[in-house]
Amino acid sequence: MIPLIEATDLTMRFGGIVAVRGLDLAVQPGELVGMIGPNGSGKTTTINMLTGHLKPAGGRIFVSGRRADGLEASAFAALRVGRTFQITQLFNRMSVLENMLVPGLARPHSTRPAATRAARRHLDFLGLAALETLQAKNLSGGQQKLLEFGRALMLDPDILFLDEPFAGVNPVLRDEIIALIQTLHAQGRTFVIVDHDIQALQRLVKRMVVMARGQKIADGPVDEVRNDQEVLRAYAGV
Ligand code: ADP
Ligand code: MG
Repeated sequence: MIPLIEATDLTMRFGGIVAVRGLDLAVQPGELVGMIGPNGSGKTTTINMLTGHLKPAGGRIFVSGRRADGLEASAFAALRVGRTFQITQLFNRMSVLENMLVPGLARPHSTRPAATRAARRHLDFLGLAALETLQAKNLSGGQQKLLEFGRALMLDPDILFLDEPFAGVNPVLRDEIIALIQTLHAQGRTFVIVDHDIQALQRLVKRMVVMARGQKIADGPVDEVRNDQEVLRAYAGV
């Protein structure tokens, strides 16, 4: 099977810091992959490169077999590669519906009525339908996370990279987000989920990737990764 996303020897530097070094990663269609690693280990940088938000210093990226490194984020979005951000990136003074329409109308051939219909369908799915006229800044933190999720869905991604979807989220909302991901996955979407909440990840994923100091140090079934000595050392900070 052709991987939905494939990266080979991916590298990113910021000045003297090598944030990601020689990363090889392939994600097959329909997979649900967790990604963990200490702070600063290169998880967000990896997402940024795999979604066109950062141009890699080295290595290659393929989306369904098509070379994609060097493309802009909008081109990755057009290839149906989506993401959410660690810190929500909403337009605070715009309404919930308008926040959804921004990415919706950015799609080629989109029309306002069709984008509005799609937005309302996603807001309904996320339990935000009653809030569509509220300004984003008046939403709770959890509702803002859900809206961020909705904005990613407006691009109808085949694969979604979620950057810490459970951070700062209460257990009720966490369970809600897990259920949403499971529903979207059952509909055929592929996920890569970065988070520190290993318990939540374990409920969702079979495969776990572990980053440490910019490198992938483990990649495999959750149970194997959990007992990996190098992984345990990375978390013990040795
Ligand atoms: P994680 O998401 O795993 O916490 P990041 O990918 O955010 O890690 O960061 C990896 C490393 O790259 C860290 O040392 C971080 O300080 C550095 N880094 C990330 N983004 C930038 C940037 N825009 N400029 C300079 N350094 C950065
Ligand atoms: Mg991060």
